[in-house]
Amino acid sequence: MNEGQAWPIVGHENAVNFLKESIRRGKVAHAYLFAGSSGIGKSIVAESFAKSLFCGNIDPCRECIHCRYFVKGIHPDFYRLELGKDEETGKEKKNIGVGEIRELRERLSEGALLGSYKVAILDGAEMLSEGAANALLKVLEEPRPKTVFILLASDVKSVLPTIASRTQIMRFLPVRRLEIYKYLLGLGSERKEAEDLAALSGGLAGKAIMFKKNPELFDEYKDRVNSFLAILESDLNGGFKEIGRFFGEKKNTLDRAGRNKIFSAWHSLLRDILLIKGGMGGHIENVFVFDRLSRAAVKFDITKSAKLIESLLSARASIDANVRDRLALENFAVSAKMG
Ligand SMILES: [Zn+2]
Repeated sequence: MNEGQAWPIVGHENAVNFLKESIRRGKVAHAYLFAGSSGIGKSIVAESFAKSLFCGNIDPCRECIHCRYFVKGIHPDFYRLELGKDEETGKEKKNIGVGEIRELRERLSEGALLGSYKVAILDGAEMLSEGAANALLKVLEEPRPKTVFILLASDVKSVLPTIASRTQIMRFLPVRRLEIYKYLLGLGSERKEAEDLAALSGGLAGKAIMFKKNPELFDEYKDRVNSFLAILESDLNGGFKEIGRFFGEKKNTLDRAGRNKIFSAWHSLLRDILLIKGGMGGHIENVFVFDRLSRAAVKFDITKSAKLIESLLSARASIDANVRDRLALENFAVSAKMG
């Protein structure tokens, strides 16, 4: 956390200073594109910026009507648009539709109700339908005074160049491990927990904070890690049993989110094994199982470790080709046991 300032942000000093400077000099752009991985801190920077714009003080006063409404989530000139859920199916929509952008445009076309700025955060600028992108382009082509658009996306390249070129692009890089560590100590973590979570975050403060605030999610993550290590440590039968734990009776498939979590945890573990083999154990993410990873690293040579990553990727690809999850994971366990 940057002490002495009211923006509650871990790292990203350059972005924060740049935005504050733009307010100080009265040079606020009409559209920004914040690019960086999910959990890196784009949203909190965007919201802090919005709050300062509304309040008129670089460090928000916390007392004016803007500050009070903003904290309560009821500021009438603040809009946040993100990938919604389908009302009928409850599933996440595939993209942000043209209707949603048009509605936003309409709401922004009126003057600010509280007489300050109007600020819109569009989270998922890479998820716009073609129509929505065109509608957004029109909005960006006709900037209105004291109206600020902040687009959030995982990557600049994932946003249409015609849109990106009309924004002030700001790239968000992973935050240093030490800063996240210190921040977690400030949240009340013990040293060990702060160390483990800071490493696991991979520079995404949001990920570390999520695990800190939801210990049950961290336990689930540890469970996936334990399964992976058990597969490496036990015989094939034991490996199959481990995989069976992910599936209920007579079930052979997982939901997409569950599958992604398994694959990304296992991928990160294999990457750690390669790092340890390469003498870079200080950079691994799964510090809390360092000893077990080191033992696994002794067992596999570099070629074998690289092959395992390949097997994991092909297991994932085979699921996309309609192979059942259980079979794909079992195939991976088999390849882990082969020399
Ligand atoms: Zn204020």
